[in-house]
Amino acid sequence: MGLCAIGQATMVTPPFTGYSMKFADLGLSEDLLKAVDAAGYTEPTPIQAEAIPAVLMMKDLIGIAQTGTGKTASFVLPMIDVMAAGRRRALMPRSLILEPTRELAAQVAENFEKYGANHDLKMALLIGGVQMGDQLKALNEGVDVLIATPGRLMDLFERGKILLSGCELLVIDEADRMLDMGFIPDIEFICEKLPENRQTMLFSATMPPVIKKLADKFLSNPKQIEVSRAASTNDNITAFKINVEQRKKRETLEWLLGNDHVETAIVFSNKKTTVRQLNKDLQRSGFKSGEIHGDIDQNTRQKELERFKSGDINILVASDVAARGLDIKGVSHVFNYDTPWHPDDYVHRIGRTGRAGAKGRAFTFVTKADAEAIGNVEKLTKSKIDVFGKDDVRVELKDAPKPPPKPKPKKDDVGAPKKVREDKSERDQKPAKEPKAPEQDKPKRAPKKDVKQDRADKPKQPRKRRDEDSEPVPPGEWNGPQPGFLGVGFKK
Ligand code: AMP
Repeated sequence: MGLCAIGQATMVTPPFTGYSMKFADLGLSEDLLKAVDAAGYTEPTPIQAEAIPAVLMMKDLIGIAQTGTGKTASFVLPMIDVMAAGRRRALMPRSLILEPTRELAAQVAENFEKYGANHDLKMALLIGGVQMGDQLKALNEGVDVLIATPGRLMDLFERGKILLSGCELLVIDEADRMLDMGFIPDIEFICEKLPENRQTMLFSATMPPVIKKLADKFLSNPKQIEVSRAASTNDNITAFKINVEQRKKRETLEWLLGNDHVETAIVFSNKKTTVRQLNKDLQRSGFKSGEIHGDIDQNTRQKELERFKSGDINILVASDVAARGLDIKGVSHVFNYDTPWHPDDYVHRIGRTGRAGAKGRAFTFVTKADAEAIGNVEKLTKSKIDVFGKDDVRVELKDAPKPPPKPKPKKDDVGAPKKVREDKSERDQKPAKEPKAPEQDKPKRAPKKDVKQDRADKPKQPRKRRDEDSEPVPPGEWNGPQPGFLGVGFKK
C-alpha cells in the first residue's frame, strides 16, 4: 500500500514530499523498521514523520488528525521502541492507550501486534462487552501496553483490579469523540491517577475548547502537529447528495444498491433503531446485509465485521459509534441513510470508502429536515456536494412513464405502483409494530398475509435485476423506468 492510502489528509505542517522522508530517518530501531517494511509502507505519512521523532524524544504531543492519516502508527511505532526497555509488573500497566470505542481499541491492538511482531511486549485489551476473565489474567501477569475504553478501565480501577501508578505513557485517542460520548470526566479522573512524571499524547480531529482545556491541564509543553481533514478533497471519493422524502429512503437505497454497481457498502444511520429495522428490511428484500451498532455485544459485532470483511455479506448497516475509524479495505460505497447530525461524522463516514487508492462513491440522503445538517457538512468540507442526477446514474434509464405527477393516478402501465407506495409508507411509519388492535378497528391495515404479498410485489426495481427476470439485461444495466427520486426537484 502506498501513501495514497492515506490520501484524505493534506498537510498543514511543512511538506515532506520535496525531500522524501524515509522511515529509517526517524530514529526507529531496526526491528521496527523490519515490521514497517513487512507492513508494506514505503514512506512515513506527514503525521508519522513529525510525531515519531518527538515521541522517541519523550516529548508530549498533540496530534490534530483524524483516522486515515496514519495517526495510529504515528504513536504505536515509537511507543514500541520506548516500551522496549523496562520491566512488567503485575496489575501495573506501563503504558495506557484510551480509545472511545471497542472497535477502535481492537484496531489499535491489531496495529500493536503487527508492528510489535519483533518485540517482546505484552499487551492487553480492556473493552466492555467481553468477559473479564482473560483481561484480568493478562493484567495479573503484567502488561507493557494496555489499550482500553474508559468505561471498562474505570470499572476495573474502582474494583481495585488495576493500578495506574506505574503508567509512564498515556495516549488519549480521538479526544473529540470521547467528548461526544461523555467520557471527558472519566479521562480526567484517569489522568489524575497516573504519575505526574509521564509522557502524554493526545489525538483529536478537532480542538473544541473542552479538549484544549484538557490538553492544557494534562500535557506539558506539547509539540503540536496538525494534518488537515477535508476528506472531501480525497479525489478517490465521488460524493453525491439525494434529496428524498423520509418515506422514500428505503426504496431509494434499494434502487441504488441494485443499480450503482455496488460491491460492498456501509449504510450509516443516525439511530440504532433504524439500523436494526433497515437491516431486516434489506434482508427481506434479498440483500446480503448485516448490522453493527452500540447495542450489539462485542463478540457479535466482531463476527459481523468478519462476515463483511470475508464477503459473506456485502452490506453493513451501521451506527456511527460502532463504525468510527474502521479500516476495512475495498468498500465501494458509503450511504448516509440519514444525513449525519455532526458534520465531522460525515467526513468519518465517507472516509470508509476510497481507501488505499481505490475509488469509492458516497451518497447522502437529505430530507427537508436535514437542510441545516447538510449545510454544516458543506461548510466544514468547504465544498458543495453534487446532487445525484440522471447523468450520474450508471445504468441505462428508460424515460419513465412519470410515476408521481398526479395525486392519484388510477392506471399505471408499470403495474400498480401506487398501491405499493401507500402500503410501504404505512409500514415505514410503523416499522416494528405488531397489529395488536382488534381487526375491526383496523379495517385498512393489511393482514400479515397481504403485507407479505406486498413485499413480493414491492421491491420491484432491485428485485427485477436480482430475481428471475425474463428479459435479458446486461450485467449492471437497469432497463426499468427512471426511479422517482431522480425526478424530484434535482438536477435535470
Ligand atoms: P490510521 O490513520 O491510523 O487509521 O491509518 C489508516 C491506514 O493507513 C491504515 O490502513 C494503515 O495501515 C495505513 N498506513 C499507516 N501508515 C502508513 C504509511 N506510512 N504508508 C501507507 N499506509 C499507511
